[in-house]
Amino acid sequence: MRCYCHSQQPFALCCQPYLQDVSPAPTPLALMRSRYSAFVLGLGDYLLQSWHPDTRGALTVDELAHTGRDTDWLDLTIVFARGASADEEGAVEFKVRYRENNRVVTLHERSHFVQVQGRWMYHSGQLNPPKIGANQLCPCDSGKKYKQCCARR
Ligand SMILES: [Zn+2]
Ligand SMILES: [Zn+2]
Repeated sequence: MRCYCHSQQPFALCCQPYLQDVSPAPTPLALMRSRYSAFVLGLGDYLLQSWHPDTRGALTVDELAHTGRDTDWLDLTIVFARGASADEEGAVEFKVRYRENNRVVTLHERSHFVQVQGRWMYHSGQLNPPKIGANQLCPCDSGKKYKQCCARR
């Protein structure tokens, strides 16, 4: 079975080990993908646990599970991803599309992640971040131009 996060990978080799807490997501990108899958599956516990306590406010497992289940998720596209397992913070910019009242809505966000005691957590996000130019240095810190780097994902 293909993974819910649209990675084209089998679920068992993609988000499943993180969602079932077999192993923690090793990078911000892996956590981001697993959180998308958790929204699709309505896994409120996972969504709350992977949301930084400083910013999750009064969100509850039920609210997150309902938001996930009540939304008709269409797809996930990664714009860029920065952060390796040894880092303390990282970022993932993505576009998520879902259907609402018979129209397709795009959510475009640059999410900020921090690692706390070996676990990556979603911290905060900037909606509709500025467009990354093709010849600009890729924000993933590879030192390459964007068009030769994460734009090819
Ligand atoms: Zn996945
Ligand atoms: Zn890049």
